[in-house]
Amino acid sequence: MDFDTTLAEAWIRAIAAAVEKEQARLTELDSAIGDGDHGSNLRRGFAAVLTALDGPRPVGPGAVLTKTGTTLISKVGGASGPLYGKAFRAVGAALPEPAGPAAVAEALAAGLDAVRALGKAEPGDKTIVDAWTPAVAAFRTAAAAGASLPEAAEAAAEAAERGARDTVPLQARKGRASYLGERSIGHQDPGATSTALIFRTLADTTTA
Ligand code: ADP
Ligand code: MG
Repeated sequence: MDFDTTLAEAWIRAIAAAVEKEQARLTELDSAIGDGDHGSNLRRGFAAVLTALDGPRPVGPGAVLTKTGTTLISKVGGASGPLYGKAFRAVGAALPEPAGPAAVAEALAAGLDAVRALGKAEPGDKTIVDAWTPAVAAFRTAAAAGASLPEAAEAAAEAAERGARDTVPLQARKGRASYLGERSIGHQDPGATSTALIFRTLADTTTA
């Protein structure tokens, strides 16, 4: 199985569905250490992405992800819009066609680089980076060991979920939650949580 246009579109549609389903939870997490809009930001963004994908069909998996990123940048006002927008654009730009597990791992790594270039967050700052970093590492390790796309994506999803859970004891050093200082400790980061959703849906989409 390669990462093709059909899979790219199925992944993005699955993210939109997951965001819709988990909107309340994302909002609750962001209410604890932010301004309570992470769920609605992503919901608005991915609803616009679905509309964009219903328009002229992007040619190739990279183009699907690039269009996703461009739409998120234009429709989401919060910090997460430009961060995820740049990430999806970078993944799309880095994705060859057809892409096997190793190429997908490198494209996802390019997405992480884009998040870090824009947001300047280090691992441990309690952000998207804390879920995306272990996910890329797990994807790469699995691909290098000869894993299939579904196997590598499953390893990445589990790593992202662990990474999100591991943000609970951290003190936020980037974004709105950093204004809370020590009071940000003891809550799971909303952005790391949505990144875990993004990787979980990739695993679910590749195995479906
Ligand atoms: P806002 O903070 O503008 O309300 P959202 O609520 O949509 O935007 O997104 C908040 C999430 O964005 C945080 O939980 C965090 O994971 C992520 N985030 C914020 N700043 C950064 C950054 N500099 N780098 C990476 N992720 C960040
Ligand atoms: Mg917010």
